[in-house]
Amino acid sequence: MTTAQPRTDLDVQPTPLALLLLGREADPASERGVDCPGDLPSPSDPDLVARARAAKEKLGDKVFVLGHHYQRDEVIQFADVTGDSFKLARDAAARPEAEYIVFCGVHFMAESADILTSDEQKVVLPDLAAGCSMADMATAEQVAECWDVLSEAGVADQVVPVAYMNSSADIKAFTGKHGGTICTSSNAKRALEWAFEQGQDPSTTKILFLPDQHLGRNTAVRDLGMSLEDCVVYNPHKPNGGLTAEQLRDARIILWRGHCSVHGRFSLESVEDVRARVPGVNVLVHPECKHEVVAAADLVGSTEYIIKTLEAAPRGSKWAIGTELNLVRRLANRFAEEDKEIVFLDRTVCFCSTMNRIDLPHLVWTLESLAEGTLVNRIEVDKETEDFAKLALERMLALP
Ligand code: SF4
Repeated sequence: MTTAQPRTDLDVQPTPLALLLLGREADPASERGVDCPGDLPSPSDPDLVARARAAKEKLGDKVFVLGHHYQRDEVIQFADVTGDSFKLARDAAARPEAEYIVFCGVHFMAESADILTSDEQKVVLPDLAAGCSMADMATAEQVAECWDVLSEAGVADQVVPVAYMNSSADIKAFTGKHGGTICTSSNAKRALEWAFEQGQDPSTTKILFLPDQHLGRNTAVRDLGMSLEDCVVYNPHKPNGGLTAEQLRDARIILWRGHCSVHGRFSLESVEDVRARVPGVNVLVHPECKHEVVAAADLVGSTEYIIKTLEAAPRGSKWAIGTELNLVRRLANRFAEEDKEIVFLDRTVCFCSTMNRIDLPHLVWTLESLAEGTLVNRIEVDKETEDFAKLALERMLALP
C-alpha cells in the first residue's frame, strides 16, 4: 500500500474504466484520480519554461528528473534521463545524492522507484492523478480473492505468480510473498521459463500472469510455443473468475483480465490498413498489443527494442509503430533526417491519457515547491509491501 496525500473516496465502478476519470477526488486503492493540492501556474504563462529551468537549477544535484518515454515533449525537455519504468527506477537508485526523484510517469512507476531507491530519497509524482488504467485492473483484494479461488480448485500450490512491472506495489508484494517474480516486456520470456521451473513438477506448474493478459498470452504463445488453449482468462468481475475448477486445473497459464488502454486500441485492421497505405512498411508493435496484432506484425518488442530497431534501420526504410503516440512522434522527428519514414500504426490519436496528466504547469509547481523546501506529492510505499515487492524484483534481477 502506498501513502500519497491527499486522497479521498471515489465511487469506483465495479468494472475498471479504460480511461482515467478526470475527477477531483480519488480512490485510495486506485491508481487514478486526485487533485493537485497546490496552486498550479496557468498553462498560458509564457514563463513556464524559464520557471522550470530556474527551479531545477536552484535545486541542482538535489533533484533528479525521470522522464518516461511516453511523456509529452514539454516535460521530456527537463528530464535528466529518459527510459522505460524499470530503467528509470534503477537510474534513480544509482543517483543517491539526489534527495528528490521527480518521476514524470505514472503512479506505479513512482512506487517502483521508491522501492528501489534509498530511504533518504523522496520520490515525487508531479500529478497524483497520473495513474495507469492497466495497473488499476488488478487490485490487492481481487488478487487475494483469485488466490482463494485457485486454492478451492486445488491448484494454488502449483501456481507461480508473475507480475508485469506495470502493476501496483501491492501486486508486486503479493507476487513476492507467493514465490513469484516481476517481469518487464523485455524479459517476460525468461520470467515465464523461470516460473515454470519453480514447481516441483514443471509439467504441472501453472503461471498466474498479472495484470496484462496480452503480454502474458503473447509471451506464452509467441516465445514459448504454447497454444492459445493453454491459456485461460481470469475475470475478477465474475464469480470464480468466470472459470470452472476443471478449466483452472487444465490451464498452463492463467491470464489476468487486464490490458493497456493505449496498446489495446490497435487492431488487425490497423495493420492491414497501414500495409495498404504504405507499401513496403515494416510493422513494429509493443507486446501489450492484442495477440492478433502481434501475430500480424513483422517485429514485436519493448519500447527500448523499438528505439534500438529504428536506430539500426537502414535509410529509406518505412515503419509503422504500434505504441504510445508521444514516443512515435518523437522518433518520427528524430529519424526524419535519416530518411526513415515512421508512421503511427493507427489512424486515430492514441496518447496515454494518464501519463499526459503530467504537464508543464504540474512540473513547474513541483520543482518550485521543492526549491522552496516544500515536499509535495511524495509517493511512499510502506515497509512490509516494499520488502515483499523488492523480493519479487530481486528475483527478476537474478533471472538468467
Ligand atoms: S501506456 Fe498503458 S500501461 Fe503504460 S501507463 Fe498508459 S495505460 Fe498504463
